[in-house]
Formats: sequence, structure tokens, C-alpha cells
Amino acid sequence: MINRINHVAIVVEDLDAALRFWRDALGLPLSKTEANPGENVDIAFLPLGESEIELLEPTDPDSGIGKYLAKKGQGMHHLCVEVDDIDAVIARLTGHGVEMINETPRVRDEGTRYAFVHPKSAGGVLVELYELPE
Ligand code: ZN
Repeated sequence: MINRINHVAIVVEDLDAALRFWRDALGLPLSKTEANPGENVDIAFLPLGESEIELLEPTDPDSGIGKYLAKKGQGMHHLCVEVDDIDAVIARLTGHGVEMINETPRVRDEGTRYAFVHPKSAGGVLVELYELPE
């Protein structure tokens, strides 16, 4: 079952500059910022309804997201869809001929399992799947 959009991730050059739009001008609350050295990004989390905007500022130009910013510039990076059973959703997608970036879910420290659908199978959108821990 598909539950909701968990978050929309946006790549930015500078978190403080981006917050001048998302927090100060638009008025979204900033719940936290955190460094994610594993993925070479600093992240600002802005809750929006049952979802969240995540602003990602690359901290290393040679990382995946750093290269993405250099090549494509600022903008939407991915859309994250939350599901109950990520293995069942991946099986369903691959059964429909959809190409995954990773068919085996990865696991975050807090237990969230996640996988990415290749944008060429999703109309140019990088789609992340999330299965939250119980
Ligand atoms: Zn994400």
C-alpha cells in the first residue's frame, strides 16, 4: 500500500539562502537541520502537512549530489513515496518492467528501508521509496 508523499528533496547551493524563501518568505517551519556526512549533504527539514520539504546542500563537490548540482543546478532532486511493504512494491514495479537504481533496499541508521526508481522509468523523476520501521 502507498501511504503518502514522505518528502520532496530539493538540491540547493546554500541552505541559508534557500531558507530565506522556504522559511522566511513562504513561512514553513524549520524543524531541524542536520549534517549527513555519509551522503555528503547538510539537510534542512521543513514539515508541510503530512510531508516534508528537505533542502539538501552538498558538502563535497565530488559526491553524487555535488556532481548533480554542478551539472543540473539547483532544483528538485527526488520525490519520496512512503509504502508499507517496500519489497512488494519493488516486485510490482520490476514486474511492470520498471528499472530500479537499487532493487535491494538500503537501510538507514534508524531502520528506514529505501530504494530508488530510475528516472528513465518514471518520466524523468527520481522516485525514492520509503518503508518506515515499525
Ligand atoms: Zn529522500
